[in-house]
Amino acid sequence: METVIHPSRFSSNLQKKLSTMMAVTHVLFVLLCSVISLGSEIQVDPNGYVMYCPCMGRFGNQADHFLGVLSFAKALDRTLVLPPWVEFHFPAPRSVQVPFDVYFQVKPLLEFHRVITMESFFENLADEVWPKGKRTVFCYQARTYGAKENDCNAKEGNPFGPFWDTFNVEFDSSEFYQPLYHDVTHSEIKRWKERYPVSKFPVLAFTGAPASFPVQQQNVGLHKYLKWSDNIAAQRDKFIKENIGDEKFVGIHLRLGSDFENACKHLDSSPNMFAAVQCLGYRNEHGKASQEMCYQSEKTIFRDLSKVLKSTGYSTVFIATDSKDLKSQLSKKFKKVKFVKHSPDNAHVDLAILGASDYFIGNCISTFTAFVKRERDVNNKPSKFWDFPPSKKHEEL
Ligand code: GDP
Ligand code: MN
Repeated sequence: METVIHPSRFSSNLQKKLSTMMAVTHVLFVLLCSVISLGSEIQVDPNGYVMYCPCMGRFGNQADHFLGVLSFAKALDRTLVLPPWVEFHFPAPRSVQVPFDVYFQVKPLLEFHRVITMESFFENLADEVWPKGKRTVFCYQARTYGAKENDCNAKEGNPFGPFWDTFNVEFDSSEFYQPLYHDVTHSEIKRWKERYPVSKFPVLAFTGAPASFPVQQQNVGLHKYLKWSDNIAAQRDKFIKENIGDEKFVGIHLRLGSDFENACKHLDSSPNMFAAVQCLGYRNEHGKASQEMCYQSEKTIFRDLSKVLKSTGYSTVFIATDSKDLKSQLSKKFKKVKFVKHSPDNAHVDLAILGASDYFIGNCISTFTAFVKRERDVNNKPSKFWDFPPSKKHEEL
C-alpha cells in the first residue's frame, strides 16, 4: 500500500514543527540576549563619580595630570570617568577630543581602580546619575575671565567649551571647592567626603584636572596601569619590525620646537619647570637645571649620543622630534649608525617606540619625555637625559 501524504497535512505538520523550532529558538535567543546584557550591564556606582576636563597643556601635561586624578578618584573611592584626550589640530579653532581608549586600554586600569570611559558614561549612565538640569561644575574658585560673574565659566575658551560640547554638557551651577585641595592625605579626603556627599553630589565634575602638576612622586608608579591600545602597539611593532628588526636600538627625544626654546628662557626664574623633577629630584637633590638640559645644542646631542653608542655598542638610533630631526647632521657625524624616524608624524607611536627602545635619551624638562621615562622605569629599561648631570663647561655659558 502506498502511503499518500496529503499535501495539506504535510504542510501543517511542517508548519507545526517549524513554529515549535522557532519558538525554541526565540526563547534561546532571548535567554542569550539577557545573559549578554547581564554581563555587560553597566551598574551605577553608589559611591559616585569623578569627571574632569584635561584642559591644561598637550599630551604630556594631560598624562601627568591623569595619574594624579587616578589617585584622587581612588582615594575618594569614586569611579573615575576617563576623559578623552584633548588635542589641538592647528589651525582648527576648536580642540579635538580623542576617546581615552583610542590610545590606552581600559582593562589594565581596572586592576587599580573603577573607571569608565566618558563616552560610555554619557551613553549609559548620565540620564540616571547626572540628569540635565542638575549639572554642577567644580572649580577651586570663580574663574573671572568668563561671561558670568561668580561662576566657574567652565565652558569659556578653548579647549573648555569644545570639551564639554563633545558630550552636550551645559552646567546649571558652579561649586567653588576652596580651600580643599586634591591631596590624597587621609584628612583632606575626609573633608571632601564630608563637604560633598555622594547623595547630594553624585558626580564631581571639574573644570580642570584635580591633580598637581607635575605629577606627584607617589603617583609616578601608577603609570604601570597605562598600557597602549592594540592599535598603537601594533603600529609600534610594525615600525620596529620593518625598520629595525632584531637590532638593539637607542631612542632619542628631541624637543627643539620654538615653543620650548622660548619656555627654556624662563628656566632661571623657574628652575623646576615642567618635568624637571624627573631628573633633578622632587627635593632638587640632584642639582640645578642647565640651559642645555632644556634646549640642546647639536654639540651636546652629538656628545651624549656618542657616549651612549660607545657604551652600549648599538648602531641603530630611532629619532622622535617635535621639529628638527637632525637626521642628516647625525648621519654625517656617525657614519656607521643607522638613523630611523617614523612618518607620518604621530606623537603616540613615537612615544610607544621610545618606550620600547633599548636605551633612551630624553629631555629632562619635557613632560613628553617624562611619559617615556615612566613607562621605561616600570619595565626596568635604562634612560638618561641630555646634559644630565650637567657638563661643567656649560655652566660658564
Ligand atoms: P612638553 O611640552 O614637552 O612638556 O610635552 P607636551 O606633550 O605637553 O607638549 C609637546 C607636544 O609636542 C606633544 O604633545 C606632541 O604633540 C609634540 N611633540 C613633542 N615631542 C614630540 C615627538 O618626539 N614626536 C612627535 N610626533 N610629537 C612631539
Ligand atoms: Mn607642553
